[in-house]
Amino acid sequence: MSLFSLKSHDGPLTADLIQEPGNFGLGKIPSRLRPISTTTSICGYCATGCQLKLHLDEDGNAINLSPEVNYPVNLGMACPKGWQALDPLTSSERATVPLLRDCSGTLQPTDWTTALTEFTTRLKEIKTEHGSESVAFLSTGQIPFEEMAFLGCLYKFGMGFIHADANTRQCMATAATAYKQSFGFDAPPGAYADFEESDVIVLIGANLCIAHPILWQRVMRNKRSPQIIVIDPRATETAQAATTHLAIKPKGDLALLHSVAYCILRDGRIDEESISNTEGIDDYREFVKDYSPEAVAEKAGITAHAIETLAKSVSEKGKRVSWWWTMGINQSHEGTRTVQAIINLCLITGNIGKPGTGPNSVTGQCNAMGSRLFSNTTSLVGGHDFANEGHRRKISEKLEIPYEHITSQGSLAYDQILDAVAEGKIKALWIVATNPFHSWIDSDKLEKLRANLDFLVVQDMYSTTESALTADLLLPAASWGEKSGCFINSERRLGTIKPVRKAPGQALSDFRIFRLIADAWGCGEFFKNWTSPEAAFKILRDVTRDQPCDITGIKGYDHIDECSGIQWPYPENPSDTSTERRLFADGKYYTPSRKARIHFSAPAELPEKPDDQYPFLLLTGRGTSSQWHTQSRTAKSSVLRKLYPENAYVEICSADALKLGIKDKSTVRISSRRGALTASAYIAPTVRPGNLFLPMHYPEVNKLTHSSFDPHSRQPNYKACSVSISRID
Ligand code: SF4
Repeated sequence: MSLFSLKSHDGPLTADLIQEPGNFGLGKIPSRLRPISTTTSICGYCATGCQLKLHLDEDGNAINLSPEVNYPVNLGMACPKGWQALDPLTSSERATVPLLRDCSGTLQPTDWTTALTEFTTRLKEIKTEHGSESVAFLSTGQIPFEEMAFLGCLYKFGMGFIHADANTRQCMATAATAYKQSFGFDAPPGAYADFEESDVIVLIGANLCIAHPILWQRVMRNKRSPQIIVIDPRATETAQAATTHLAIKPKGDLALLHSVAYCILRDGRIDEESISNTEGIDDYREFVKDYSPEAVAEKAGITAHAIETLAKSVSEKGKRVSWWWTMGINQSHEGTRTVQAIINLCLITGNIGKPGTGPNSVTGQCNAMGSRLFSNTTSLVGGHDFANEGHRRKISEKLEIPYEHITSQGSLAYDQILDAVAEGKIKALWIVATNPFHSWIDSDKLEKLRANLDFLVVQDMYSTTESALTADLLLPAASWGEKSGCFINSERRLGTIKPVRKAPGQALSDFRIFRLIADAWGCGEFFKNWTSPEAAFKILRDVTRDQPCDITGIKGYDHIDECSGIQWPYPENPSDTSTERRLFADGKYYTPSRKARIHFSAPAELPEKPDDQYPFLLLTGRGTSSQWHTQSRTAKSSVLRKLYPENAYVEICSADALKLGIKDKSTVRISSRRGALTASAYIAPTVRPGNLFLPMHYPEVNKLTHSSFDPHSRQPNYKACSVSISRID
């Protein structure tokens, strides 16, 4: 049923009329709190992918939750965000009706018919006047992959636009690019079981205790007395709990990793069989000759002896070594090559494809991995290639969309889209379930770009995010807990989410909104078979046939639930159906030669070095396990709000604080070439002299960060820019 089949209805559409099939509870939530049944859903925050058990009343409304004990990911555990996952649904800041900016500049409530008419009319006008490259969408890793795929296919094949990106670009683009170049496909090889099966666990640029607390619990379950090595400029909570902390200089990581390779190759602590499955080792052997520990110690910020010791630890014969990283590596001006330096170490020591090993990226958002495969932005849906004619013909056939609509043109990346806005080439943005006016690097720049946009559409569950408040049109979206679909977690595991609450007012699932837009745009026929998220899942499943991520053996959502989630690949008649599987056990990769490719390059200079005016290097990262990104949701939970400081604070070491007369808790001003903020000083031994740390969740923080990007992945370099600090009270 489309909105336009309801045109004869008198007056605006009500929630009852547009309630989608499968949503629960059209009546009000009963007051009694005794659950009568349960269902399960994957948590909607991070890519750990914990499964939650939702306790339901007789109308199917969730009244409480608990972590699922039998799920192989979280084994009965959840972090504070998971425990409080229902809180943000009932916020008074929910978007409940479409809002349209009137000629006085005020957002006014409207109905869906008007909203969709405005959406299609304005975007068609812009397309007619300025062409198919004049509009872009910016999306998310927070919605199920069926919705992402629908958005990407609708936008490119149905509406005929080109440019689109997701906030995966801020998070995992580096890991995805590195895997693609090294393995021939975006294929994280490991399983979470590897945390428990390693002898040496290297956490580099990853604060698991805070950012992925359940994965840290998996480390704690390891019964092999593992050596836990944390490589991080900051003495994070994880570093403090590790057996070894190497407090390197910010961005000393790439030189350090080359030096570790130098030691291993020099000493012959290598795995010949694994190396025989690679290409490029001779060039790499030659290249790392300049990276002796003595040559690198100053750049890395640790001693030559510490580098030699690290090299021995990660190459000991018979020991299982796993490497794990997150944003400390990915959000860098040279992140792709740094990830590949980790991959290279695993390849030359044979730590891949076996229990307790692997170069394993830990993803940020709950469905970042689904975004990477299905969002139809950087790759053609299902991990295919826009430039490959055979792939385009396959997609045309599987989706039943005429071949001439399957574009071969790749998209601009996120930063390039914003540059195109600055240049006046992109005139309209459609922002879906993300908040770039807070989260994008050097965020003031984006605010200034707003004036260049003729039309800004924001589709979100809240009407109060920084991005929603500046929209011309706000489309109210249902949240996690109010719709169904699938997420893919960091170990390639598909899991389902379920509707357990009714979306407020006239808010609709993103899936439903895309269906309505398809009809309103006039391309609904292309998506006639996308009747529900599960129907879309089956279409997308069939698209993956013969791809590395082939999931054609999955029958449907029930099958996924019965198996406690299913990792890809899972082809028809799978030879291995075990619960936890890893890739590359046979030493065969997805490149044309079936060999892994060793990539490397020399470390580059910092894009913005400290100087007399801005003498400190600013690090940013997650503050607490109770905060999520821009806090759009976590700030709506009264419980979570009590678990973190309300206002921004900055970590500074005692030597620097003493020099500048800064006392603990005094108010300080931090400035960069782009902006300034005030914060409370926290004098702590966690940062090196000359470094500061700010949690990323506060809206002011990205006013300071510097617009520089990894040249391969176009991921922003959030982690190191130069700033000054001074006392202001
Ligand atoms: Fe949710 Fe991540 Fe917390 Fe698990 S660790 S409960 S997936 S936020």
